[in-house]
Amino acid sequence: MNTAQKTLLKLPSDQDSSGRTLGDEEIKFVADAIKSGTLTSTKGTFTKQFEQQFAQHLGMQHGYACSSGTAALHTAYAAIDPEPGDEFITTSITDMGALTPILYQSAIPVFADVDPKSLNVTAETIEKVISPRTKAIVVTHLFGCPANMNEIMDLARSKNIPVIEDCAQAFLAEHQNKKIGTIGDIGCFSLQQGKHITTGEGGIVVSNDEHYARRMFLYINKAWGYGDQNPDHYFAALNYRMNDITGAVALAQLQKLEPSVRNRVKHANRLTKMLKGIAGIQTPTPLTGDIHSYWKYCLNVDSNVINGGADGLAKELREHYGIFSAPRYIRKPAFECEIFQKRRTFGNSQFPFTEARPEALNYDAENFAGTYAGLAGILVLPWNEAYTDEHLNYLADAIQESVAKLS
Ligand SMILES: *Cc1c(COP(=O)(O)O)cnc(C)c1O
Repeated sequence: MNTAQKTLLKLPSDQDSSGRTLGDEEIKFVADAIKSGTLTSTKGTFTKQFEQQFAQHLGMQHGYACSSGTAALHTAYAAIDPEPGDEFITTSITDMGALTPILYQSAIPVFADVDPKSLNVTAETIEKVISPRTKAIVVTHLFGCPANMNEIMDLARSKNIPVIEDCAQAFLAEHQNKKIGTIGDIGCFSLQQGKHITTGEGGIVVSNDEHYARRMFLYINKAWGYGDQNPDHYFAALNYRMNDITGAVALAQLQKLEPSVRNRVKHANRLTKMLKGIAGIQTPTPLTGDIHSYWKYCLNVDSNVINGGADGLAKELREHYGIFSAPRYIRKPAFECEIFQKRRTFGNSQFPFTEARPEALNYDAENFAGTYAGLAGILVLPWNEAYTDEHLNYLADAIQESVAKLS
């Protein structure tokens, strides 16, 4: 194909209406919420319905909506209630919103290495950094690809350590017939603009554990004992509530979640078929029997085969096809950010790093071989539920032609 004569195809984007499912259903619920005059979720009906239906959808007892994915994770961490200096094992390839709240809860993020193919933590990498101070394990299902939860839960249960699943990128993904977010003790989701479903900003936590659920309900509500006989503010907590206009959008979006994920998965499987056998690129490799819910579709690019590796391929896709991908995703492990390197937290105190075991703050590159290798090769393609065969063919042709040119 002669690319010089090709007209560029604009792909649907999750940043505007071309790639979002927002429509009349959301408008109707929002109008109803506004007409009701009740915009707080403590009195309104939409957020409550969203919480109930979301939890039910996952087969969970409790669901509490909140103001962001960051708030959801903070709420989960607060439910664990660490002592200052306690350790939360997590990954350095994630959104900062999963890490900062650990510090706000006076605990220390301890980074486990990842599998270089999936970029997920594994039981093996987690076990290496477990210590007597480990208070929780946070598992991120990156890009929608389920981590190996069976192995991680076996390890965690044997050590009696609770597990929090960060499912911000993994709505309706499944590990061995179990929905992601229902396997650990707490599941956390984000409704930010670019996630599978969206309210612009928003989040929700789910759990079957009565103790954690109670603490999360309270944490979102300034720890005020709504409904109790003698309510009080029981402990230090924030107002992380979702408002009922957002709840109205969330409830409408929830009805669209399953078809959206179905489209994303179907299209991803098609693209994987079309890219089969191309030397130098590896398509996503979820575990056999798992369902990857494709927040993003990622390629692992072999720089020994393809000139310039992930960066080279991204440049080619951008310049000749108008396809904007993200080579190396967040580009550097989170622990290379200033917040960790300079311990910028509360004034000049460096708290809670001051409470940490020195080993918990070891960010030596040699401990993160999988992390660096994974980031070096990853190319994150834009992905969307609104793709058609035309978009998929365009993507596949662009990748094929670019790889041929760079090989
Ligand atoms: C988006 C995201 C978050 C944070 O969610 P916000 O709603 O942006 O606060 C946390 N973890 C992961 C893995 C995410 O993708």
